[in-house]
Amino acid sequence: MTQNNDTILEQLKKNLAEIQHLEHAAALLDWDQQVNMPAGGADARALQLATLQKMAHELFIADSTGDLLEKLNESDYPEDSLDACLIRVVREDWNKDRKIPSELVEELASTTSRAQEVWARARTDNDFQLFQPWLEKILELNQRQADLLGWEEHIYDALLDLYEPHMKSNQVSVIFNELREGLVPLVQEIAARRDAVDGSFLERDFDVSRQWDFGMQALTAIGFDLERGRQDKSTHPFTTNFSRNDVRVTTRVHADNMKSALFSTLHEGGHGLYEQNVGSELEGTPLGTGTSLGIHESQSRLWENLIGRSRAFWEHYYPQLQQLFPADLQGVNVDQFYRAINLVEPSLIRVEADEVTYNLHVFLRFDLERELLSGQLAVADLPQAWNDRMEQYLGIRPHNHTDGVLQDVHWSAGLMGYFPTYALGNLLSVQFYHQAQLALPDLEEQILRGEFSPLREWLTENIYRHGRKFYPQELVKRVTGGDISAKPFLEYARIKFGAIYGF
Ligand code: ZN
Repeated sequence: MTQNNDTILEQLKKNLAEIQHLEHAAALLDWDQQVNMPAGGADARALQLATLQKMAHELFIADSTGDLLEKLNESDYPEDSLDACLIRVVREDWNKDRKIPSELVEELASTTSRAQEVWARARTDNDFQLFQPWLEKILELNQRQADLLGWEEHIYDALLDLYEPHMKSNQVSVIFNELREGLVPLVQEIAARRDAVDGSFLERDFDVSRQWDFGMQALTAIGFDLERGRQDKSTHPFTTNFSRNDVRVTTRVHADNMKSALFSTLHEGGHGLYEQNVGSELEGTPLGTGTSLGIHESQSRLWENLIGRSRAFWEHYYPQLQQLFPADLQGVNVDQFYRAINLVEPSLIRVEADEVTYNLHVFLRFDLERELLSGQLAVADLPQAWNDRMEQYLGIRPHNHTDGVLQDVHWSAGLMGYFPTYALGNLLSVQFYHQAQLALPDLEEQILRGEFSPLREWLTENIYRHGRKFYPQELVKRVTGGDISAKPFLEYARIKFGAIYGF
């Protein structure tokens, strides 16, 4: 390594930091759109976002970036060092991004920013036809993008790679098929014992400000640092960040569904913990964020489900919850509460689904997206296809589009190829947690005491601090010694829900 190489690398890092400033400014505008912005701001915001994203894209794909990369060689730096990983990751990003012309980035940004407003109206009014032309446009832009990125076996692979680098849809199909084969009999066994769990008391009138306070307490307890982050309310809970020291999570609070705020807070808190604990040395570089959406989701689901829906967690927290809601939880003991928050029931809405049926919602979207992208399914026929598939997978049929095809924001935001990462995250949450249990033999006692630092530190050491240094499948191998698999999740679900439902 020469002095010259160091200067070139420094120049590259400086350019990348400036690009990131634009991206984070765009992310802040997007956060504001979802948290604060009045509806009237939509058109202006769409243009502002499009300009910033186009500028960031143009700066990144510029020949000057390529010239710097050409002079650098990752093998000149120690293996797994920040610099070696940075050069490798940025080279791959650059090769991918420069296939996409700036005009397409701009068109995607402005179309999706406006489409989200249209989708929100369509969803409220149960009017798929209002959204249909926008979805057709977004599908066409995504197809164009996929063809420009290039793909071999299935057009879906080009888009999936944007969210889960190096994962192919055929791999996903194999994993999902195994998962489906295990889930179908499990769902049937539970359905046969439906009466074993009563969750109706969770729909009583739970004071919303007390729900918010309890959520904030839980968020702080798992280690979300409010000096370096904050929580707000939005229609759809999400997490974003403008630095590891400024991480934003959101939640929503419903009086008649106390699970919603509680679990979305823990879920987004899990995403937030990942971003807050990325290594400080990666700050300001493209490595300073989670490595893929699947790995990200493994963290949100770990904190939401493996911790937040565990018996040990509620042995500790239930007395406090009961004190906050003495009337609503009167006569409900911790066992009843634990069973109620783990009620399994086929339902229409993915984000409200239980741990067992959740993945079935993802299978449905994975099927439909592949058919849309390959041209087998027309957007006009999508609502019917959605309802049919819902009946096939979950045995229920939506009565309107609001609770059916219009329920998720993703397509209006241009996100196609994204949904599989939710189910992959579920599987990985169990695989990672199993490793944490091996490393921390008294983990359950710690959770019984409301003590989460050892787990968070283990996750930081093994996952969070690495940011994007390792590709997802490599990280999985490093942490678990194997590949992503449906088996541990199926085993976990069978034991947990077998105990709750008595089989
Ligand atoms: Zn999530």
